[in-house]
Amino acid sequence: MLFNKKVTMEYLPDSFLAIAIFVFGLLIGSFLNVVIYRLPRRESIIFPGSHCPSCNVAVKAYDNIPVLSYAILRGRCRNCRAPISPVYPAVELLVACLYLLLFLSDGRSRIFVADLVFVSLIVPLVFIDLRHKLLPNAITYPGFLLMIVLRALAPDTVIVNWTSRLFGLSDWPDWGVALVGSALGALAGGGSLWLVRALYLWLRKVEGMGLGDVKMMIMVGAFLGWQQTLLTIFIASLIGSVVGVLLIKLKGGTMKMEIPFGVFLGPAAIIVLFVGHELITWYVEMYT
Ligand SMILES: [Zn+2]
Repeated sequence: MLFNKKVTMEYLPDSFLAIAIFVFGLLIGSFLNVVIYRLPRRESIIFPGSHCPSCNVAVKAYDNIPVLSYAILRGRCRNCRAPISPVYPAVELLVACLYLLLFLSDGRSRIFVADLVFVSLIVPLVFIDLRHKLLPNAITYPGFLLMIVLRALAPDTVIVNWTSRLFGLSDWPDWGVALVGSALGALAGGGSLWLVRALYLWLRKVEGMGLGDVKMMIMVGAFLGWQQTLLTIFIASLIGSVVGVLLIKLKGGTMKMEIPFGVFLGPAAIIVLFVGHELITWYVEMYT
């Protein structure tokens, strides 16, 4: 019964799946490189195919293999020998490692698939914000909708339990409670950043944070729920302060925000995705 319906993922050994997921992560990372490069330049993501930014010659398929091609070509274009940014293979490896880690922590579940989509939205946001100080609506708007839908399809038990207790929704189906949790998370993420932004504007009379950060946290909030979202903002501020102090010590300069906040919000959101619930439980148990 080779083509029996039951012969699916269940019969694939974990080790094989892990390798397949890593390779899949490399390919998605390669696609995200295109998004990171082209989206802020308002170029089409699909057409034309990859070409060298220096000599414009189309990149051959065999020179477009994630990480490997970069190593074989020693980081240079085959045609004009112009250096290729090491950020490309770095993004590919980063995404592949995140995918693999998620598989190891989530196992074969709907949550795993939802988490894959989440990190695939966060990674391009971080790199585009770092280079262009921009968090494109083209990612945050559809990302927000996607997060709500995925949360309903793959409810997070911890978020569902909290939300259910908070509003007394014990007779609601999980997906319904998950939707309420998403809305609350989006409100917490967008609301708190909007407040910080307004306060900064009022105190300093300059814009310290763009609306892009607010939209990014609406998206993140819809996925992580309100508690983990506030934790994300806290961790991002912590990383931001440490990096800020280090930069001032190393390079001198003022306290002016040189690095956009999205660059810290992204990694913080991914840390929280992995250990957010554990951190919150640990914190609550310590103070109660
Ligand atoms: Zn070239």
